[in-house]
Amino acid sequence: MIVMKFGGSSVADAGRIARVTGIVRGRLARRPLVVVSALRGVTDDLLALAREALDGNLSRLDPLAERHRRTAGELGVDAKPLEPLFEELRALARGIALLQELTPRTLDRAASFGERLSARLIAAAFCKAGMPARAVDAFAAGLVTDDRFGGAAPLPEADEELRRAFAAIRELPVVTGYVGRTRAGEITTLGRNGSDYSATILGAALSAEEIEIWSDTDGIMTADPRLVPAARPLEVLSFAEACELAYYGGKVLHPHTLVPAMRKDIPVRVLNTFKPEHPGTRILAHPAKSAGGGILKSIAFKRHQLIVSASSPRMISGPGFLARIFAAFARHEIDVDMVATSEVSVSATTGSERHVERLAAELAPEFAVDVERGQAVICAVGDGIQSRPGVAADVFAAVGAAGVNVRMISQGASKNNVAFVVDDDAVEAAVRALHERFFPHAGPELQRP
Ligand code: ASP
Ligand code: MG
Repeated sequence: MIVMKFGGSSVADAGRIARVTGIVRGRLARRPLVVVSALRGVTDDLLALAREALDGNLSRLDPLAERHRRTAGELGVDAKPLEPLFEELRALARGIALLQELTPRTLDRAASFGERLSARLIAAAFCKAGMPARAVDAFAAGLVTDDRFGGAAPLPEADEELRRAFAAIRELPVVTGYVGRTRAGEITTLGRNGSDYSATILGAALSAEEIEIWSDTDGIMTADPRLVPAARPLEVLSFAEACELAYYGGKVLHPHTLVPAMRKDIPVRVLNTFKPEHPGTRILAHPAKSAGGGILKSIAFKRHQLIVSASSPRMISGPGFLARIFAAFARHEIDVDMVATSEVSVSATTGSERHVERLAAELAPEFAVDVERGQAVICAVGDGIQSRPGVAADVFAAVGAAGVNVRMISQGASKNNVAFVVDDDAVEAAVRALHERFFPHAGPELQRP
């Protein structure tokens, strides 16, 4: 069997759902399990609805229901099976308004309606097209997670439970992405864009031959095409490269997506719903050397990062400073991305504004602490970067020639990337300069200047 996951833009409206129906029909012989996102924009809407409900404002409810009813109408399927979900959502929103309280748990429950609605619509569309299908809520089919609402991770027992549940389903399953449930049965979400992750969790549990992620680009690109018009799709990437890209802000995949696929060594393919004949990007454990082209594969970036620096002259002689600093990061649940140290100071980047001030206050008695906002991490990825001399020099020469000031550098922790920090405003210039240097227009195999 294979897993086919369709993102929000692939299922934005009836026309696109019809397109998806055609793509799935072409793969029936491979026994697909389909994973779907909410219709485009619906998750944002649901989260806004939940927040506005705190002020007693429920004005998003009707338009949201209407959009799904209209889509059902355009697909020629019955909207009645959706009505209980609209009712449940209304009750939830009223509850929020009444209690004047919105917990992460309630927010996840609200967000779950997008995928629950889209799975039902899409399964109905498949049935109408003569492909017997069944909508499956992942939380009812054993996708058990921890209870970190808003960013839950699957628990080991999920594999077995999912296998058992899907063994009993004869029709083509259309499964909700993004959502799971705790052991106690509360609905969780895997974090924004989490449907990719759902797809690989399911693929690994059910030992899929391949996992297809259908999106709206021709695969993974050499850079974000909105910044770099000359960016082009990559034929193949290793798991390690793709992980690094997802982690450093490559928009195509959720950062945890590849972990389950790597565990079971299942190839992942990123494809374009609007150009189904395009081969997209294959992600494999060990792509053949010749397939990948040059030394750099892609350039990713994350904006709106913070640099937290802590320094103390006493660090020169005293042991344990780093441990104390990072223990404080851990206590405040602040994810650290990049770290640079000197004799007397440590700088770390993070994407989370939350708790940073508390962290700074905690460190302040012992260290001089500085928090800088408006930073961006840029990451150039390619297996073997470290074994090729001169790559880092070329990277920084290109960035320097573009007049961009580099704040922090990290190379070495991971074998396949060079990462550095610049001002948010400089991202465009830096990424363009790097792309021009490493991906000249000469042709797909010629990437070195
Ligand atoms: N619908 C969810 C979101 O918008 C999950 C996904 O699309 O992957 O974040
Ligand atoms: Mg996505």
